[in-house]
Amino acid sequence: MRAALTGVLLLAGSFALAQSQTTEAEQAALLGYDAECAPYGIPLTTETGNEFPQLQTMVTVPDVRNDSAAFAKFQSINASIPNIPIKYPGIQYDPNADPDCWWTVSNCVTPKLAGLNMDISAAPEPRTLGYGFDDGPACDHNEFYNFLSAHNQKATMYYIGIYVMWSPLQAQRAAADGHQICVHTWSHGNMTQMTNEEAFGELWYTMKAIKLVTGLTPTCWRPPHGDVDDRIRYIAQQLNLDTIIWRYDSFDWENGLNGVTNATVQNNYDTLINDAKAGKFDTGGAIILTHELNNFTMGMAMSNYPALIDAFDYVVPLAVAMNKTTPYVETNVTFPSFAEFTNQTKSSGSSSSSSSGSSGGSSSSSKGASTNGTNSKATGQSGAVALGPSLTLAVAVAAAVAGAAFSA
Ligand SMILES: [Zn+2]
Repeated sequence: MRAALTGVLLLAGSFALAQSQTTEAEQAALLGYDAECAPYGIPLTTETGNEFPQLQTMVTVPDVRNDSAAFAKFQSINASIPNIPIKYPGIQYDPNADPDCWWTVSNCVTPKLAGLNMDISAAPEPRTLGYGFDDGPACDHNEFYNFLSAHNQKATMYYIGIYVMWSPLQAQRAAADGHQICVHTWSHGNMTQMTNEEAFGELWYTMKAIKLVTGLTPTCWRPPHGDVDDRIRYIAQQLNLDTIIWRYDSFDWENGLNGVTNATVQNNYDTLINDAKAGKFDTGGAIILTHELNNFTMGMAMSNYPALIDAFDYVVPLAVAMNKTTPYVETNVTFPSFAEFTNQTKSSGSSSSSSSGSSGGSSSSSKGASTNGTNSKATGQSGAVALGPSLTLAVAVAAAVAGAAFSA
């Protein structure tokens, strides 16, 4: 990546145009870190960067006060946001009483505050795994996404707003491949340590980035580190976002840190797999926390996939497990209900698809809808996915270096 970045800078400095991918398909065809992660820009993001917070990693939080649309929405909910203390480090808090249903200290998923929806911490359908990955889009995820496509396997992808803006074509691939996209906040900080405005902005701008790039508005989010309490749940719910947690953690993200090794992570996968085989999910399914963070985490996902497919009857994105057939605000993309999915997979893998090819709502992209079948061991392969017109973006040669263009 260093070499590639230098190359682009040199070219830009001499007013030559870097050869760069401009479409989702071009990006999806690349393999290897240097090629996949070479910086590029597409007008969709480079020309709208000033509508977003800075893209410097993990430090900035959005300021909604300079954004009339965001601020109007924030103002409309601000007065009703519960008056729950910000969880500054070192705060005195009784995890047993747990008045705020603060997951970080108690794994609480049933809000104490009336009117809040429960967190989703397990797939509701029996013998079913809600399959998903945090921290994307990873710039070098093509091998992993190729693997998922080869198995006709859909997943739920929890995307970080900054990464969506850095790697918009990679984000588009998730939509094109029929995965479900959820919000994983803008900067991946601890949400309960943020002010109301900051927490709102983390969700708002990630939704906006995903909408800009894919034409789709998510209705689900996962708090980084699981850090959520009733104040944050309330803000998310006002933005029409379901809160998704987990009950199993692979700790794949922590490999090499804090004594976590490859063996630890494999052992965590094995725990889930063995629990499934032992019938622990016969009345309700599971969700495990895994990541598309790097080669190791994606490699573990691939190497454990056969065992997961064997241990669970159904491995599906959460939309399918929850019977949420239209998991975006836009209704042109549909997922099968759980019953449709299971019938589909039982009937010899016959495919069903829908395609409407309606506009994604952004000025320069459109995509077709897909029926997102997923793999199950009933047939090995489920219905094929039919996509409408592939993403078409205004073609322009990228001259901007990703990241640098968004510092407005
Ligand atoms: Zn994360």
